[in-house]
Amino acid sequence: MTATMPEIAHPLSTSVFRGAAGRCPSCGQGKLFWKYLKVTGRCEACDEDLGRYPADDGPAYVTILLIGHLIVAPMLFFPIIWQADAIYSVPIILGTLAVVTLMVLPRIKGGWIGLMYALGVKDTEARLHTADAAD
Ligand SMILES: [Zn+2]
Repeated sequence: MTATMPEIAHPLSTSVFRGAAGRCPSCGQGKLFWKYLKVTGRCEACDEDLGRYPADDGPAYVTILLIGHLIVAPMLFFPIIWQADAIYSVPIILGTLAVVTLMVLPRIKGGWIGLMYALGVKDTEARLHTADAAD
């Protein structure tokens, strides 16, 4: 691969935290999502084109990684989890995990888009972040 990654274009932590808070990574004022996970095309406050920052599978991957390592794995250390009657424990555990995952996913996606904004990675540079880059 001969392509080089762009330099950090904007403050990294500020952009990521603004995105994770569901705000525009550029100005921190406009909303990042107009629906659950639907990114606003253009920021209503600063007119930044938010739709051009790719998310793809990244937020889902990070969410699974975090939930698996921070909740599922530690949960298995408590004997009540695997000693309780499965007819009660499985629906409760899976239901709770589903709710927590759906609550965390928009935060992760917002942070991800903030990261893409900070790094200056846009859809037009998709070759830098997909398997197509290997060609
Ligand atoms: Zn904005």
